[in-house]
Amino acid sequence: MRPAIFLDRDGTLIEERGYIDRLELLAVFPWTADALRLLRRRGFALIVVTNQSAIGRGVIDEPFLHQVHRALDARLAPAGAAPDAYYYCPHHPDAAIDRFRMTCRCRKPGPGLIERAAAELGLDPARSFMVGDRWLDIACGRAAGTRALMVRTGHGAHEAAAPPAAGRPDAILNNLMEAAGWILRNCSR
Ligand SMILES: [Mg+2]
Ligand SMILES: [Zn+2]
Repeated sequence: MRPAIFLDRDGTLIEERGYIDRLELLAVFPWTADALRLLRRRGFALIVVTNQSAIGRGVIDEPFLHQVHRALDARLAPAGAAPDAYYYCPHHPDAAIDRFRMTCRCRKPGPGLIERAAAELGLDPARSFMVGDRWLDIACGRAAGTRALMVRTGHGAHEAAAPPAAGRPDAILNNLMEAAGWILRNCSR
């Protein structure tokens, strides 16, 4: 089984801009490609795990989400940094579209996306890391048995100032590049 970096998308890989419902809103942080390439070189699978209740709410549809992810791949591929896979949760308890209206296990902070990726791709959560800009990302990683890092990009600076009582991250870093450095220094393999 391989170790993986489970990556939140908005605010972690790309600028937080609310629902990404137009390709023009996709803005990759300048360090994202380099950070991902370093992690890949160390042997980590790169797996995006993202809540996409915009689908359940009818703001975007699944073909458009795939289009966004192909566009993100196109930005990262020249650096050898396109993610290995994307896992998303389209659900929400208040979704406008019936088939997406549910309390599911895959909406972060639930561990479902990581569990599914680990089962399908042969990944080892115990040697893996979740990186995200929100407490729900940290809780998701903890629930799935990974270590968890918070970045201050996106919602991170705001959220880091108001930690919940339980569920501390292993570290809080300024951005994904710093998180990659932390992982390379602290992963024991
Ligand atoms: Mg985020
Ligand atoms: Zn879900």
